[in-house]
Amino acid sequence: MNAVPPLRACDLLCPRWHRVEALERYRDVATDAQRQAPVYAVFDEAGSFLGLVEARHAAVFPGRVFADLIVRRQPLPVSADTEIDTVLERLQREGVDHLPVLEADGRFMGVVSQLSIFTGLCARERALRAERERLIERLTCELEHREVASSVFDGMLEGVMVTDDEQRILLVNRAFADTTGYSAEEAIGQTPRLLHSGRHGPEFYREMWRLIDTEGLWEGEIRNRRKNGEIYPEWLRIQPVLDTAGQRRYYVGIFSDISQHQEMRAKLLHLAYYDVLTGLPNRQLLMDRLQQAVAHGQRAHEAFALLYLDLDRFKDLNDTRGHRFGDQVLIAVAQRLSGALRTSDTVARLGGDEFVILLNDVRQDAAIAETAQKVLDLLAQPVEIGNERVYVGASLGIARFPEDGQDPDTLIMKADAALYRAKEDGRGRYHFHSDLLHDRLRQRIQRVQALRQALELGSLWLAWQPQVRLADGRIVGMEALLRWTEADGTSVKPDEFIGLAEETGLIDTLGDWVLAEIARTGQGLIAASCIDLRLGVNLSALQIKPGAADRLLRMLQLHGLSARHLMVELTESALSTQREGVRPLLESLVEASAGVAVDDFGTGCSNLAMLKALPITQLKIDRSFVMDLEHDVNDRQIVLAMIDMAHALGLEVVAEGVETAEQAQLLQTLGCDLAQGYYFGRPMPLAHALSMLQGSA
Ligand code: C2E
Ligand code: MG
Ligand code: MG
Repeated sequence: MNAVPPLRACDLLCPRWHRVEALERYRDVATDAQRQAPVYAVFDEAGSFLGLVEARHAAVFPGRVFADLIVRRQPLPVSADTEIDTVLERLQREGVDHLPVLEADGRFMGVVSQLSIFTGLCARERALRAERERLIERLTCELEHREVASSVFDGMLEGVMVTDDEQRILLVNRAFADTTGYSAEEAIGQTPRLLHSGRHGPEFYREMWRLIDTEGLWEGEIRNRRKNGEIYPEWLRIQPVLDTAGQRRYYVGIFSDISQHQEMRAKLLHLAYYDVLTGLPNRQLLMDRLQQAVAHGQRAHEAFALLYLDLDRFKDLNDTRGHRFGDQVLIAVAQRLSGALRTSDTVARLGGDEFVILLNDVRQDAAIAETAQKVLDLLAQPVEIGNERVYVGASLGIARFPEDGQDPDTLIMKADAALYRAKEDGRGRYHFHSDLLHDRLRQRIQRVQALRQALELGSLWLAWQPQVRLADGRIVGMEALLRWTEADGTSVKPDEFIGLAEETGLIDTLGDWVLAEIARTGQGLIAASCIDLRLGVNLSALQIKPGAADRLLRMLQLHGLSARHLMVELTESALSTQREGVRPLLESLVEASAGVAVDDFGTGCSNLAMLKALPITQLKIDRSFVMDLEHDVNDRQIVLAMIDMAHALGLEVVAEGVETAEQAQLLQTLGCDLAQGYYFGRPMPLAHALSMLQGSA
């Protein structure tokens, strides 16, 4: 703080004096109330200062003019800049009350008196005191501010780092230390490289500094490394601080650790896309996935289906048992649904008791229908809440992409409309958006259910058709042909249900049943025949898979039937060498002494290379070549060629569908080994087959 400048005469001039002319009388002046003063400054006519007259002296001679009253020994004037101490000393020494004050150029300036000095000093003292108090107040204030500022600095949640223009760290706050793990002592003097994670290349930092230089600011997300090595994301803002000359003196970096923000962001994202109650995707996420499915479907020409599901008795439950109970039911339903579907499918909750299932990549309507039925069956099972079991049930509407709609909204709308129809039909059902398709599929599904029941109830049976050696007319084989007698007594042929069983995966169970039945009843047929009877069994292409031979042979073993009595019939397309598992299956069969026949030969691709490449023992010429054999020369030629070729390959030849004696006769002359057909015997029940064998033996 600057020292207080010393007071001078000009600073403490007396306000109470009057200017008078040398020739004026004191009495005249003193009686004029306006001009009364304790001292008078006397001037001559030319305006020159002559001296001072104090009122107390003049009052002794009131009639005199001021020229007379000026005592000869006038005190010497003081110059304006005379220090006040000197002035005071003179006043006391000279015994006068007033001294004239002149400016540097000698002009009269005013009067200084003991009183004026005293009051001036008092005023100054007062001013100084006030100034001091103000200063103290300001200081206190500043001190407080500084404390506040430093506690703000340290209390900030954001980390702060101040560097000089060479990026040496000068100052850090507590949050810096908390976030990075480096104390102020460790950080100060280092550069921010201390925190580099290695996750950003030089290009990143170059761009950062370019922006600080050009924009005066950089702000963004950056990965840094804590002292303990952990890498974390922070939101950083770097700004230069300029000095008064506009030069960059410091850089201030303010950052916050956003690892928690990111967790929060993930949580928020979850909230935005998932249903809080069940944890399933919500409408928003479903719409996103639908959009993706549509885009993908259009690109890759893939189909998908939308199943709109609504619980049947939920409203009642909610009303009678309360929302809490209802919530438990919804949670249980959600768990059941997500557990039952493929991970590639989406189950979403739209709200209330409405759910949507997005089935990806489903080509066959039957497969969609089956899943729909599976879901309904699942939800028809009681739900256990605490110790209670409740039945909810559901109805379901189905819309398919691309047939029923090409965009998410249309698909949802159509599935919803189909759901409405399902509810109308009576609850616990599904309904396809298209009526025609719906009816067709319903029938199919009913058929599959009936077939399943047929398996359980024993309404399936095997018919046997004899195979005759043309040379001597003896029965050398019996082909097992599957039959299904329905509840109303009608007999259903395999062509009507084998395909269905194949599509719905029932074929394995069916195949196992047929084999077990052959193994079980075959013994009787063999015993009834006195030659080495071959029992023919038809296998579907879908039964060809790894392990099929083991399964088949084990089944025979179980019932004590030797494999050499078995002739496995497979169609040409089923035998296509491309199919995985064909060769091992055939090899295992032939090794176990079973025969392998190519069924319906001539209707498929008739790949001769295949006949040579695979271990095949028999060739069955399809009925279509035999039918017109008597009249069609071409057919005769073809059959002859087939027989010759088969023989050349060492295969036995069977003609299928022989209905007349002429056909049998012709086939024999063409060199055919065996024949099968109505002429020799229709497919018949076991008892008939047995007696036929006994008769022919
Ligand atoms: P396939 O193996 O070619 O069986 C011969 C079919 O021709 C049988 O029909 C038989 O009744 C019929 N047939 C026999 N002789 C004559 C004839 O002189 N004239 C006419 N018009 N037809 C004759 P079916 O029993 O209806 O069987 C049809 C097909 O179903 C079979 O053809 C076979 O591929 C399949 N199949 C039958 N049983 C089974 C089985 O247990 N499993 C599998 N996977 N398929 C089977
Ligand atoms: Mg057959
Ligand atoms: Mg056939």
